[in-house]
Amino acid sequence: MSKSVIEANAFHNEEAAYAWVESHVWPDGPICPHCGGTERIGKMGGNATRIGLHKCYQCRKQFTVKVGTVFESSHVPMRFWVQAMYLLCSSKKGISSNQLHRTLGVTLKTAWFMSHRLREAMRIVGVEPMGGAGEVVEADETFIGRQAGQPKRRAGWGHKNAVLTLVERGGRARSFHVDSTTVADIAPIVRANVAKETALMTDEARQYLEVGTEFASHESVNHGREEYVRGDVHTNTIEGFFSIFKRGMKGVYQHCGEQHLHRYLAEFDFRYNTRISLGYNDAMRSETALKGIVGKRLMYRRPDEAQVS
Ligand SMILES: [Zn+2]
Repeated sequence: MSKSVIEANAFHNEEAAYAWVESHVWPDGPICPHCGGTERIGKMGGNATRIGLHKCYQCRKQFTVKVGTVFESSHVPMRFWVQAMYLLCSSKKGISSNQLHRTLGVTLKTAWFMSHRLREAMRIVGVEPMGGAGEVVEADETFIGRQAGQPKRRAGWGHKNAVLTLVERGGRARSFHVDSTTVADIAPIVRANVAKETALMTDEARQYLEVGTEFASHESVNHGREEYVRGDVHTNTIEGFFSIFKRGMKGVYQHCGEQHLHRYLAEFDFRYNTRISLGYNDAMRSETALKGIVGKRLMYRRPDEAQVS
């Protein structure tokens, strides 16, 4: 019988966990985060030395692979980071901080910070355009939660948080927490994220009319008149994305603060963009998320955490 995934050494052994993270963050060998040097870097040994500690003999400073990543200045053992990353990447609808707290045995507060840092690792950096010649991008909005300070109302969307998502048919998704679904908030995002050669598909909403003329084509179905599919004109791909997102947010993340919504969106985008039908398995998804830990360390520094590690 083959070993189960969670028997892997990197989940249990601190040195193996460091080695696994190092092999992805430093595929060509260690890089000194202080001076950028790659030569004359030694691994510190001995029982009294912290695992993963390296020394750069050019600038004489010490570092671990955590420096410059979302793991920096946390005292959480590396194997817990690896475990949490895998859990977050392998559950289709995500994993709550509460569950992480129970599964890893860390405090709820630590679990909360860990999951937000991991979400940060999943965030897409850069804005290479979506779509392209012969490609279809669907755009649509949805509403979720309730804005802070807004009373509960029975109907209407005005009190909810608006989300704009762009999905390539057969490809990636990109989601945005927007202030409103007006042209002023929607059009610039569509313009900045979708290649002009793309066939754009939306519902009949007015906010796409003008920006739609900038693309190879723009077609829409009239949901208001109960038209959902006309040939290959539809927004079913995006409806599927919203359906997973909403079930996840409802079931797992009941108490998502408005200020964190963009991170949850990044998490759902990430899992969608690394889904099985695009050739990813759980392990590859974790490795992809791991590559995103670099260069995002300043987002969630706990005030009670030391600066070193
Ligand atoms: Zn150095």
